[in-house]
Amino acid sequence: MLRFLIKKRVPPTLTLPEPGPEICLAHVGMKVQSCHQCLQSFNWWQKFKVTVDEILFRSNRHKCYAGCTDPRYNSCKARFPRDTFIETGIHPETGSLNLKKGEAWLNTFTNLVTYLLRCNTDVTSLLSGTAIKSTIAYVTDYITKTPLKTHTMFEVVRTVFNRNSEFLSGDSSRHEKARKLMIQLVNSLTVQAEIGAPMASLYLLGHDDHYTNHTFKSFFWKPYVNEARQAWEASQGEDVEAERLDRVIVEKVNDKLVGITPVLDYIYRPSIYKETCLYDWIHLSTKKEDG
Ligand SMILES: [Zn+2]
Ligand SMILES: [Zn+2]
Repeated sequence: MLRFLIKKRVPPTLTLPEPGPEICLAHVGMKVQSCHQCLQSFNWWQKFKVTVDEILFRSNRHKCYAGCTDPRYNSCKARFPRDTFIETGIHPETGSLNLKKGEAWLNTFTNLVTYLLRCNTDVTSLLSGTAIKSTIAYVTDYITKTPLKTHTMFEVVRTVFNRNSEFLSGDSSRHEKARKLMIQLVNSLTVQAEIGAPMASLYLLGHDDHYTNHTFKSFFWKPYVNEARQAWEASQGEDVEAERLDRVIVEKVNDKLVGITPVLDYIYRPSIYKETCLYDWIHLSTKKEDG
């Protein structure tokens, strides 16, 4: 018996990206037919382009559906079709930069991001303060979104109350009733709460709650500013004491109480650091106990 096996093709949206071959350092920017490494590189880039095209076709196109049209304006809520630009240029009236865009029904994208993430993306060049601020507002809205909607919470509370109506009118003590009700409420709310994948992996895999290649030092500049202003304001006879409500840590040194503030640390810094400016002092110095 003859059997034909046809391997089913897996779309690139369901596969992982293939890493590129090593760059041929001997022929940078060239394609030498006789060089194996050059050809490998060339073939990979050909495949890259086809793959990006297919991912964009499968996931970045907008198709208007019933829910996306705004009946008031009879237009698409996602603002499709978008304007196209034959070439990158500056809008003469607003001065905004319009990047080259050929497809009215595609989200903006970047080839490499599409190739690596293999899904729908929306990559935008943020060139104005307003655009950056609204993007930050949009993202923080997502991050700080309460996991439970208010109406869901009330619904949960109502359900727990209804389920326990008999128990509540029974003759258990008030203390016991409250205790049981609270436990049930907390359990139900926990079940209802959805958490994002990054948060779940944070707990399960012990990841950090943020990613950065920097370490930061917090620095409250107001007390330093007050201290510096004092020199001028005191000479003008203004009452600056009210403004100077700095926090002072009181420490016991040799049975004496001593007020310690970061401002004083800087003012009375060792004389070898006389030339050190405040910025350097903050980010370079650490405070340790002697001995
Ligand atoms: Zn080569
Ligand atoms: Zn639409």
